[in-house]
Amino acid sequence: MSVERYPHLKNDDPEVYNLICQQAQMESSTLKMIASESYASFDVIEACGSIFTNKYAEGYPGARYYEGNEYADQLENLAIARGKELFGCEHMNVQPYSGSPANCAVYRALLNVGDKIMGVPVSEGGHLTHGWKVSFSGKDYQQIAYRPNQTTGRLDMDEVREIALRERPKLIWTGMSAYPFKLDYAAFAEIAKEVDAYLVADIAHINSLIIAGVHPDPVPYCDVVTSTAHKMLRGPRAGFIMSKVEDRYHQLYHAESKWNLAQSIDRAVFPMLQGGPHLSQIAGMATAFKYALTDEFKAYGAQIVKNAQALCAELQALGRPIAGGGTETHLLLLDFRHEDFTGKDASQALAKCGIIANFNMVPGDTRSPFKTSGVRLGTAALTSAGMKEDDMKKVAAWIARICSNIEKVDEIAPVIRAEIAEFCKGFVFPGITE
Ligand SMILES: *Cc1c(COP(=O)(O)O)cnc(C)c1O
Repeated sequence: MSVERYPHLKNDDPEVYNLICQQAQMESSTLKMIASESYASFDVIEACGSIFTNKYAEGYPGARYYEGNEYADQLENLAIARGKELFGCEHMNVQPYSGSPANCAVYRALLNVGDKIMGVPVSEGGHLTHGWKVSFSGKDYQQIAYRPNQTTGRLDMDEVREIALRERPKLIWTGMSAYPFKLDYAAFAEIAKEVDAYLVADIAHINSLIIAGVHPDPVPYCDVVTSTAHKMLRGPRAGFIMSKVEDRYHQLYHAESKWNLAQSIDRAVFPMLQGGPHLSQIAGMATAFKYALTDEFKAYGAQIVKNAQALCAELQALGRPIAGGGTETHLLLLDFRHEDFTGKDASQALAKCGIIANFNMVPGDTRSPFKTSGVRLGTAALTSAGMKEDDMKKVAAWIARICSNIEKVDEIAPVIRAEIAEFCKGFVFPGITE
């Protein structure tokens, strides 16, 4: 695997080299169904492995604290220009080290410690940084929780509005890590306006569906939009922030500040939270954005949803309940509330057989977050390897077979693992076997 890819590492550090080869072997012979993962292209990997890792560029293009940044400036401006074209946003910051630091910058830019924010708890599909207790966001800010309906699995916008009117949060997060349905940004925007709250969409999971036009676009409706680059966007591990230029609540909340919204975001990223930007990651982001601007990428984004829906329909046909009864995105949740085994049992059994996913709470779950009654499955990675609806039927058949044989998984695992490894040989894995 990739034997000729890293000749220097192979020679100088065989231990690290071998681990990379083993990871490559695993990623190209098993089914990667973790909803937050995909495959970065060789272009992205080369850019991230480039000599831009050498350079310090504290500050922003044209205003750095170090000399020698003429190419760094061009690189960062290129990433920003492509990103703005891709999402049609007014302002973009590409320096956040990852999605969580991007979200942290939003808090620091807009709020004061102790302020109320509205977010979905982690146990209900939200992200740690939307006010969960163990995160800075739950310690420094007060999370007012809203959640998908326990029966339908969908957000009820009337309920979201009721909570917002009662609690009057200063910021509302919309965007989750385990929600299979479309988000109604227009409805969120109306609610936010009613209570004078900033509306922030976190599209870490679904950015490519938005680019492909198969999920509503938050940019026209939100003050700020944050994202990762490494999930289905297939870029480097990094984050970015999009925003309007003007702060619509400047008079109300920031009358003493001389910065507009865009400037507040930039200053929160650097120098408030970070030092020098990771230019090699920004190089990877620039090239990932270039690819995301192509029609081929849009077709990939649309295919992710078709694959998730095909997988969902086939699993249901095989008698496997899906939380909320379906999916409109890249992910679905197997629902094991009525089984004797837990989500954790199932995800471990799937992994033994070569299907890599994670256990997850489902709406109405009565088990603990350490066991759960669900498994989250995503189709972005398989789609980037070229799989289509017919392939999803085969994947569904393996999943159903494993879930019906949790007790005997050690017996069936070697057989299914070999079948899956053989199946994987029919596909090209970007960045590995391409
Ligand atoms: C993954 C994710 C993040 C954070 O990303 P990291 O890069 O892991 O810090 C933020 N928000 C949501 C909704 C996510 O799913």
